[in-house]
Amino acid sequence: MECPYCRSRNFYLKDPQDEYETYEFDLREGEIEFLDNDGPAPPIPVEEDTPVFCNRCAWHGKMGDLKK
Ligand SMILES: [Zn+2]
Repeated sequence: MECPYCRSRNFYLKDPQDEYETYEFDLREGEIEFLDNDGPAPPIPVEEDTPVFCNRCAWHGKMGDLKK
């Protein structure tokens, strides 16, 4: 699982309650690993249709799009 454009495995997602709140994570072995920059991991479930954004390029899509 990686960005289809730049092959980065560093992404972030937005809090559905607050679009200015973002949560950065890495993908390791297909598992989400939240980075502890701004506090604890988000209290939101990450599912197939959760929007995710690449941290290195302009790509964004759904979590399910990353799976090969
Ligand atoms: Zn990318």
